Amino acid sequence: MSLQLAIPNKGALSEDSVRLLREAGYRCTRSGRELIVSDRENEIDFVFLRPRDIALYVGNGVLDLGITGRDLAADSGAQVTELMNLEFGRSRFCFAVPKNSGLTVETLNGLRIATSYPELLRKNLAQRGLSCPVVRLDGAVEISIRLGVADAIADVVESGATLREAGLEVIGEPMLVSEAILIGRSAELAERPAVRKLIARLKGILVAGAYAMVEYDIPRLQLEAACAITPGLESPTVSPLSNPDWVAVKAMVARKECNRIMDELYQIGARGIIVTDIRSCRL
Ligand code: AMP
Repeated sequence: MSLQLAIPNKGALSEDSVRLLREAGYRCTRSGRELIVSDRENEIDFVFLRPRDIALYVGNGVLDLGITGRDLAADSGAQVTELMNLEFGRSRFCFAVPKNSGLTVETLNGLRIATSYPELLRKNLAQRGLSCPVVRLDGAVEISIRLGVADAIADVVESGATLREAGLEVIGEPMLVSEAILIGRSAELAERPAVRKLIARLKGILVAGAYAMVEYDIPRLQLEAACAITPGLESPTVSPLSNPDWVAVKAMVARKECNRIMDELYQIGARGIIVTDIRSCRL
């Protein structure tokens, strides 16, 4: 039987979910607004659902797997297991109040708080011993204070630009740090061969994104110093060149270190330094 994996049909996580699965070799592109796209070769049906509903379908066993946000899964109250972090859609669920209002999380007691994540908010308020009326909104929560329906908000913040534009500021620590996650009904699901393959492929794409391949030529006398700068994962590949005084070196490096590594290699005499992307890998 095919696996059934739910993908958000809209919202902040939708496009990146499809992109990641496509890069991992799955056929999940919709030609129109169809609900299900079947990848027969990999025996997976991709089911496009409203982001809010995904954890519910997975939690009650109607669908095997889903991609959703940790915040949405927590707000749904569904019993699901996080099988894998997908490293996109990073956000923080925070309290925000009008700038310079002087309000703190401790002084929110009794004030009206608007949010699209009422369960997540209620749990957090209860943990803090705060009692606040919760105003449930579907979106555009940041406008609710100006419209007079709330005194504070609890919302998803990514860059903070939306809050700034609305004249609001975050107070306190985030209630939840979220990102896109792969969920299943139970951890045992990860043992099914098709799920194991999916997770291995997704990891391959994510790891590849964190690394790059660096290649360069270096005088043989400097090889040891060069290998110390680019030790690779096991050890770097060293190949002879037609000039016996030089060798070529190839190694994986952390992408965020690339520029520092190129500077250091050039300084010790490396030339022809090339950095290329890695599309996917299994380490
Ligand atoms: P920003 O202006 O970058 O702080 O983005 C905040 C707004 O974008 C919020 O009001 C959310 O509606 C939306 N948003 C950004 N990232 C996410 C995410 N990962 N999940 C859900 N909504 C998000």
